[in-house]
Amino acid sequence: VAIAAHPDLEQDLARVCRELAGRCQYLEIRVEESASTDFSFQGADLESLNQRQERGGDVRALVDGAWGFTSFNRLEDLDEMARSAIAQAELVGGGPVTLAPVPAVVKRLPAALVVDPAQLSLETKVERLRAKNAIVLGYGRPITTSTSYYQDRAARIWLATTDGTALYQERVDVQAGVVAIAAADGRVQRRSFTTGSSDNASLPALTEEAVLRVCLQCDGLTKAAKPKAGEYTVVVDPRLAGVFAHEAVGHLSESDHVHENPRMREVMTIGAELGVPELDIYDTGLVPGSRGALRYDEEGVAAGRADLIKGGRLVGRLHSRETAGAMGEAPTGNARAINYRYPPIVRMRSTYIGPGSASRADVFRGIKHGLYCVESLGGQTNMEMFTFSAGLAYLIEDGEPGELLRDVTLTGNTFKTLKDIEAIEDTMTPAESGGGCGKAGQGPLPVGFGAPHLRIREVRIGGD
Ligand SMILES: [Zn+2]
Repeated sequence: VAIAAHPDLEQDLARVCRELAGRCQYLEIRVEESASTDFSFQGADLESLNQRQERGGDVRALVDGAWGFTSFNRLEDLDEMARSAIAQAELVGGGPVTLAPVPAVVKRLPAALVVDPAQLSLETKVERLRAKNAIVLGYGRPITTSTSYYQDRAARIWLATTDGTALYQERVDVQAGVVAIAAADGRVQRRSFTTGSSDNASLPALTEEAVLRVCLQCDGLTKAAKPKAGEYTVVVDPRLAGVFAHEAVGHLSESDHVHENPRMREVMTIGAELGVPELDIYDTGLVPGSRGALRYDEEGVAAGRADLIKGGRLVGRLHSRETAGAMGEAPTGNARAINYRYPPIVRMRSTYIGPGSASRADVFRGIKHGLYCVESLGGQTNMEMFTFSAGLAYLIEDGEPGELLRDVTLTGNTFKTLKDIEAIEDTMTPAESGGGCGKAGQGPLPVGFGAPHLRIREVRIGGD
């Protein structure tokens, strides 16, 4: 059932902007319609199943350097909510805010989809995941159970601003994951595969082979030892390297964060040498299919490529119009909101480490005794310190990955680690995964990752 059309929506948004332009420094209105589906299996049981349609909007008003924000569900309330946002800003009061200038954008951007979620029936989606889930359940001991999930969301978003922008965009996000759970010797091991896409609801990466690999690895982990704690030369795979780029570098590059923190302002100086000369890290909305793909952000700013580290030096950071104005830099199209209930804040899109010059074999070559760390179970960063748990690891002896190891954590200082990179593979592998990024109560926000294999010396590994 489609939500009833609102034929005058675009004219209404433009009218409210026109009427209120004289009462504020800036005003933006977003209206969002979305359709979403999510379901999950626990073992063989389809445990949850939801389908939702939603419509709402928000208004953000800037008056004398103070922001007001309202969100609403009834379009009839638009005029009133726009006036409330202005009244709120007037009440709050604030310092001077300069929004970096951007060109007005008047465009309609339908989604360019490979497989539209609306094209697949609910039954097709459920049966596809059930089949993958059944591979885990059919594996046998030591795997005892599984969990699997699927989510999709398709949104239509209208944006109008007092700067003349009138933008219509469609966005799709799809993700799924399968987890194998094993119990042996009183210990539980989990191993998961997740993937996501912004243009393909059939999720071609979620194959039988990928699920079977997860089962074999989970089985292996029940028999695996922990590594001996200490410092190792480590090879990290594209998934772990991509998460590292996001967690350790990307979040530090978010300008709201940099701007508020004196220590970060000092470290994150443009031109500072932060990594080895071969290191490039960038954030972009321009990769089709990636979960961070974005053409225009929530402020109607083109979401192009933002180089963060180039040739080992800090060359840029991620901005909203407000942070770009405050720091005298160019906006980058990184103002995002998870939905209409939240104001946009500075967020990543898809964050990548660029390719280097080493072949895959060269990355491993010459490592006497090291670790190959694969995928991430999640990480924590505290300013420049990080801790990541690898999904699994292999002991490297004389350049060859061999014995499987479990419970491997990597810790260190981000800036030391960026200078301890010894080799960067010549191929960048996209590593789309499920989940998303959380910040300031807004999560999970779809983001993308990718990286080449990296070899890093002197990484501190937790273990026995
Ligand atoms: Zn994040």
